[in-house]
Amino acid sequence: MDYLPVFLQLRSARAVIVGGGRIAARKAELLVRSGAHVIVVAPQLHEELRNRVAAGELTYLAERFVPAHLDGAAIAIAATGLREVNTTVSEAARERGVPINVVDDASLSTFIFPAIIDRSPVLVAVGSAGQAPVLARWVREQIEALLPARLGALARFMGERRRSVQRALGAAARRALWERVVRGQAGSRLLVGDEPGAQRAFEAELLVSQLTTSAATGGTPLGEVYLIGAGPGDPDLLTLRALQLLQQADVVLYDRLVPAVVLERSRREARRIFVGKSHGAGDERTAQEDIHELMIRFAREGLKVARLKGGDPFIFGRGGEEVEALLRHGIPHLVVPGITAALGAAASAGIPLTQRGLSQSVTFVTGHTPGEDSLDWSTLAQRGQTLVFYMGVGKLGAIVDRLRSAGATETLPAALIERATLPEQRVLRGTLAEIADLGSRAGISPPALLIVGEVAAPGEPAASPARPLAAETAADLSQPI
Ligand code: SAH
Repeated sequence: MDYLPVFLQLRSARAVIVGGGRIAARKAELLVRSGAHVIVVAPQLHEELRNRVAAGELTYLAERFVPAHLDGAAIAIAATGLREVNTTVSEAARERGVPINVVDDASLSTFIFPAIIDRSPVLVAVGSAGQAPVLARWVREQIEALLPARLGALARFMGERRRSVQRALGAAARRALWERVVRGQAGSRLLVGDEPGAQRAFEAELLVSQLTTSAATGGTPLGEVYLIGAGPGDPDLLTLRALQLLQQADVVLYDRLVPAVVLERSRREARRIFVGKSHGAGDERTAQEDIHELMIRFAREGLKVARLKGGDPFIFGRGGEEVEALLRHGIPHLVVPGITAALGAAASAGIPLTQRGLSQSVTFVTGHTPGEDSLDWSTLAQRGQTLVFYMGVGKLGAIVDRLRSAGATETLPAALIERATLPEQRVLRGTLAEIADLGSRAGISPPALLIVGEVAAPGEPAASPARPLAAETAADLSQPI
């Protein structure tokens, strides 16, 4: 180790910054946040620093640096950009035993600033001993994405209850309780901003701990189910929360629509169970009821269950039924939204779903049952809107027929997007009259979406008739749109 990582308590301590520029301003901000009494020594001040002086956040000495400025200082920073001055500051600091950081000069410094993640009171500091600050920042970004925004709130929640738990439980039981709070329901509630729910879960955990300690009953605390939207396929389109919960899950129940690259983002030790339904004969087939049973059983065993569903759980995802089943059985659960296929496809095919002057609304329609549905086709056939048909690949002809007989124009632009956001994505464009034929000739297969509306026209969305028979591949779409 080249450096010792420590966290300095600087509340009300004298922190001297020599230099008045932009970088000095950045350091000043950090020191002010840590509660230090910040003194800036510089002949001139950057605007940001002037504002802080005006706001009474720091003290400004409009002077040239002299070593006496460091008398009584707890920490010093030199950010003048002038090597000579920086060296003087460094020497004066060392003489006085004051830790010194000279910006961008490790050789003149006795400490360096790490890249930080601030979820106070939780702090993460990453350093590279000054060798690769850019790499340290990259590492920080990777960690940042995994740490929930409300981590600080969880830490405070625990801090506020520390004393009373200390009184109530012995050391081993305390540790076990906190483990369950962090990894269990209380933690997950708090991290989604449900403080009352967290409090209830905490009380239940505390009760279990007390009963177990007094050697009465034990009983496994309930696990939890996370209904997670996995997005349209590209793993980078997972939400941060989806990623965080996937990293905690003990079991992952996943759909046919969830590609391996997404599944790989779950915790390595997690048990992964395929529960995809399929319409094809001979394929693995799990009834919805069986999925409910699995989720409930695992949760009752005290496990954290990630129910990973393609797109968004509440859009043609039967998420509603799963939530009902969980509610019926009193299983705690969270729903994490995902990017639904329509949004993924629209973005990667360059089709704005609404556009001024072209489309004032967008409707997500199931294409599964044209003819046997309760859809108002005459409304769907009206101009000035965008339709996105899910699950319609096998029914393209019927969907088009329905729209045409309800009065939709034959030349209305339409697009088929197969395996949107995945490397194999294909986009076909044509008119409403020709799209079904184009689709079957190209052998489009599920999962694919049909988008109908002026916005689906290729090129400039304002250009009127759709280019006939435009077949594009994902590679063609890599140009800016
Ligand atoms: N809950 C999912 C939809 C499930 S229904 C969501 O919000 O996206 C399944 C249908 O979604 C498929 O038949 C297809 O129409 C559509 N779909 C899902 N992923 C897709 C993808 N990557 N590309 C195109 N369509 C997709």
